[in-house]
Amino acid sequence: MDRNTSILELKGVGEKSQKLFAKLDIRTVGDLLAHSPRDYEVFEEPVKIAQAATGAVCAVYAAVTGIPNERKVRKLHILNVSISDGSGTMQLTFFNMPFLKKVLKQGGYYLFRGTVQSRGITKIMEQPKLFSIEEYRKQTNKLIPKYSLTKGLTNQAIQKAVKQALNHCSFEEEYYDSNILKSCALIPEREAVETIHFPSDREALLKARHRLVFDEFFSFMYLLRRNKQIGEGLENGYQMFETADTVRFLEQLPFPLTKAQAKVWQEIRNDMGSSVCMNRLIQGDVGSGKTILAVLALLMTAANGYQGALMAPTEVLAVQHFETIQGYVQKYHICFQPVLLVGSMTAKEKREAYARIVAGEANLIIGTHALIQEKVQYKSLALVVTDEQHRFGVRQREHLAEKGESPHILVMSATPIPRTLAIILYGDLHISVVDELPQGRLPIKNCVVNTSYRPTAYKFIAGQVAEGRQVYVICPQVEEGEMEDLENVVDYTEKLKSALPPSVQVSYLHGKMRPADKNRIMEEFSAHSIDVLVSTTVIEVGINVPNATVMMVENSERFGLAQLHQLRGRVGRGEHQSYCIFVCTKEDQETMERLQILNKSNDGFYIASEDLKLRGPGDLFGVRQSGEFAFRMGDIYTDAAVLKQASDAIDQLMAQDPELVQNEHQALKRHLLDTAANTVDFRSI
Ligand code: ADP
Ligand code: MG
Repeated sequence: MDRNTSILELKGVGEKSQKLFAKLDIRTVGDLLAHSPRDYEVFEEPVKIAQAATGAVCAVYAAVTGIPNERKVRKLHILNVSISDGSGTMQLTFFNMPFLKKVLKQGGYYLFRGTVQSRGITKIMEQPKLFSIEEYRKQTNKLIPKYSLTKGLTNQAIQKAVKQALNHCSFEEEYYDSNILKSCALIPEREAVETIHFPSDREALLKARHRLVFDEFFSFMYLLRRNKQIGEGLENGYQMFETADTVRFLEQLPFPLTKAQAKVWQEIRNDMGSSVCMNRLIQGDVGSGKTILAVLALLMTAANGYQGALMAPTEVLAVQHFETIQGYVQKYHICFQPVLLVGSMTAKEKREAYARIVAGEANLIIGTHALIQEKVQYKSLALVVTDEQHRFGVRQREHLAEKGESPHILVMSATPIPRTLAIILYGDLHISVVDELPQGRLPIKNCVVNTSYRPTAYKFIAGQVAEGRQVYVICPQVEEGEMEDLENVVDYTEKLKSALPPSVQVSYLHGKMRPADKNRIMEEFSAHSIDVLVSTTVIEVGINVPNATVMMVENSERFGLAQLHQLRGRVGRGEHQSYCIFVCTKEDQETMERLQILNKSNDGFYIASEDLKLRGPGDLFGVRQSGEFAFRMGDIYTDAAVLKQASDAIDQLMAQDPELVQNEHQALKRHLLDTAANTVDFRSI
């Protein structure tokens, strides 16, 4: 059995569970082993009720003191139980678990584990887990893996499958040479994978994670470096001149460029007119107005008689760009002949688009990765702009180079990375920064609250909708059961519908919907036939609906600060005052302190650096970044040291054996080719 073996070969995995695993993108044994725990749970020693602190997850061993009390609220079954252990009492609430009424006997002792909350002076626990004391003892003080789940697939089932896979799967031979292994202190891959799933202790876990993060960064940056060799000092085959088109377009725009925008526009013009190919990264905070810079560069390209392409990481964003640009064409009569190319188009529509592209009738191609499929032949592709997706740019460039084309490259990013880090990651790109927001924006008003604030928030939302504004509500998961205790889009939408006046149109959006449905919902939201959009973080990149003024984020403790900042960037885009409500379910001091950073600042760079100070390299899986820098495990901020280490190792390797021809590098070469082939860079969220 190796990594490519189907998980069906594992005992206990039948066709039914195969389907469930597929929902988590697990199809092969390799996928399963790469499905690292998202966290670990330590079952601590039980505490006395009197010592159980509000906000903490505790285990208490106590007796049921009364007859469980049963209630029904609409479809919800509620069971209340009081317990006592002599030191104090606690109220327990269980939802939709009617069978517990028979299990929990008055006077019987049980072990309950959950988050302690308080209502006045009463301590409460909602939906605690129930154990026998023997069962609990067996697990006490061990690191138990917690996996991302899907409805119908339990943590237990994944653990069992992983154990089997670990027993039977063969691994590649070690691919790093002894130099790298030693200087970077890497443990063997097999040991790392085993430990990441079943760590003996925290120290071992850290070492395992180090190896896996190193692997991830190493292969990513290796690809980049190879690109650099391809692109270095490439002669500019598409030298361009500024024409009246861009000048006129700028005059007609209802706003002047900010100083920062004007400076970057100058840099782009210089690049495209110089003797070498442009290779530029534009960094700018959310809302700093990067799109217009892309439009200008593309317009200059079209005016010079060439084709340009604009690529987005999601279909929704691609469609939005297409519409914005069509709007410009109608309003300002600029020389674009735009064509859209996304995965959800019919085969016929795609064929027509391909035909217009190869004939040169279309001079602006906007789309997702469908764009780079082999069928697309350009007539004179001179500029490729990628929005919000670095990795996208990297692979795209390689594909194009393989086809013998070398257009100008412009990469636009809203992820604030410090210059030093950008140079390590993207040594080959020139960097421009749009470090100024358009004038006249009202700063967003923020608040960090706990769940008891919800009714107030709903009233506020209803008020904003009544004034004609629109609202986003973000939940961390799509449907019930993926992770415990987190709000999910589907159920939350129902909840909101009953909490808001019936005239308010509430709809939802998530990554598992069909692309065409996602586009339709987004279009309806843009057209204001939807007032409140409940969504996962799919809307985090790029979406621009200036009439939206409220962003409410549930379980905001689950998100990285940089990511929350991106989400917040979806509001505050128009003339109206905007608001951000971060609802936090975990009320420990650390979480609150972290979220307060967002409250204090609207500056993406500052937020990222403060986040880093608070979390530090010890923070393993607490929050995940997403979007452009979503590595499976590595976090470019907290793992910056590993990033540097991998970068140095690659530099040494490149100096010594750039083509990887030496014997000792053959295993590495195979591994990198494999990884490159399997890396899914293009997500169609
Ligand atoms: P981002 O940098 O996040 O991609 P966008 O390009 O979507 O931001 O711009 C956000 C909004 O700001 C858009 O509605 C855009 O029209 C507007 N905008 C861009 N530049 C300016 C400017 N110089 N003055 C005023 N508004 C601007
Ligand atoms: Mg944008």
